[in-house]
This record gives sequence, structure tokens and C-alpha cells, in this order.
Amino acid sequence: MTLTAPPRLLLVHAHPDDESLWTGGTIARYSALGAHVTVVTCTLGEEGEIIPPALQELTADNADQLGGYRVAELRSACAALGVTDHRFLGGIGRWRDSGMVGVEANNHPRALVNGSFDEQVDALSEIISSVKPQVVVTYDAFGGYGHPDHIRAHQITTAAATDVDRVFHAVTSRAATEAGAAALAEIPDLPWRLPAEGELPVTDDAAITTTIDISEHLVAKLRALRAHSTQVSVWQDGAGRASYALSNGIAQPVVQAEYYVLAKGPAEGAETDLFGGLD
Ligand SMILES: [Zn+2]
Repeated sequence: MTLTAPPRLLLVHAHPDDESLWTGGTIARYSALGAHVTVVTCTLGEEGEIIPPALQELTADNADQLGGYRVAELRSACAALGVTDHRFLGGIGRWRDSGMVGVEANNHPRALVNGSFDEQVDALSEIISSVKPQVVVTYDAFGGYGHPDHIRAHQITTAAATDVDRVFHAVTSRAATEAGAAALAEIPDLPWRLPAEGELPVTDDAAITTTIDISEHLVAKLRALRAHSTQVSVWQDGAGRASYALSNGIAQPVVQAEYYVLAKGPAEGAETDLFGGLD
């Protein structure tokens, strides 16, 4: 009798909400298939803006309680996605959201970008050696859209994920995003403005190696996005159309797939399955 090791997927994200925004459908899909899914979050997202007016006093400039609040949002999102193994890099609260490029928060002594890179790599390496994932997911070298913590998450992961079969970078598809935005333009009562051309971060489809169909898992993804209510607003109508917006109030499409660029490991079999072709 041979016992095949279950697939183990580990995703490294910068802030609570990124797991759902970038990879929520993928997480839900592999969890539903029985894979062991580990989500590592590097910070508590303390520097985020807050959408609900009633919660404005939580911000870093006021009570500075957003990080703790977002821990609870993240727990709910993980439950919606079927994640049972969530960890904070270095333990909860070890590193702080660095904020966008050029803001004062970049200088905070606990900011992720000010932390010891070696300590961060060691912390992730320790998780990777205990979980032993075959597949690791993070962002591309630009962090998807340039946020310093996303770039750092990429660098930490690239340095730590040496002994795994595959590393993928989660990206968004230009074609799918543009088609999705065009469909949103047909909706008369959307509560947000439409994205301008080139406003949403996208990757050219020619660079995308892997497309994960999440059409069966959109309910879970939307539920997870709703859990992050300080950061994300979700809109749905009775006809099955959906959109979401961050605090910038730009309508974003909910597309039927999530997209990846294979950064390390064999390409054969990886077109529609992160584990495809692996033993
Ligand atoms: Zn983020």
C-alpha cells in the first residue's frame, strides 16, 4: 500500500485581505479538494485606510487599533476559504504594516521593511520546513502593485522557498480584468466609479503560465472579501453580477479565474493546476 502525501500549498501575503483579494478562489478551491493550505501573513495591516465611517477612530493616527481589528477580519476570511492553518510571520504583531511608498509609517521601527531581512527569512524558512509545502505562492518582484510590504514579502519568500517543488507569483490578467471592467460598465447602479484605462495593476497574458478556474468558489471568495469590511466593499445583484472596491472607490471586477506566473519548478502540467504534473 502506498500513501500519497496530500498536496500542501503555502501562500505568503503582506496584509490581512491580500489572501482573499489575490488568491481567495485558489485557496477555497484547494481547501475544498483536501489540500493542506497554509496562509502566512507578514503584518497586521495597521496602516490601512478604513471604509466604514463608524470605525474611523481605529486608524494608526487615532486609536491605532486597526491591526487587532483586522486579525478578526482575517480569521473570518480564513474560515470562509476553508483555511485551518494560518500564521503570522514571526508571530502575531512581530512586524508592522510599512504603509505605501514615502509615508511616515515607512520609518516605524517595527515596519516590515525595517525589520532584519535575515530574521524574516529565518521565520519563513522555519514554517516551510515544518509544513513542507510542495507549492509556494507569493507576489512578483514588484509586489503586484508596488507596495513596499508586498515587495518585501516577495523577497523573503524567494529567499526562503528554496526546497519546494514550485513557486508561483500571483498576478492579475490584463485580458480578464479589461473584460471584467467592460462588463461592469454595463451596470447602471454600481456604487463606485469605473477604473480608468491602465488604473488597475495587470500582467500581460503572454506572461501568465497558470490559470486556476475559481468559478465554483466565487461564493467563498466573496464571503472572504466581505469579512474584510474595513478594507473592502462588495456589491452583488440578484443576477449574479458582483464587484468590489477598496477605499479608493474604484469598481473592480470579480473574475472567474486567478492567474499565476511560474517562478520556479517544472512548467509541464502547471497550466491549470498548481500541483499538476508533480509526483
Ligand atoms: Zn497588501
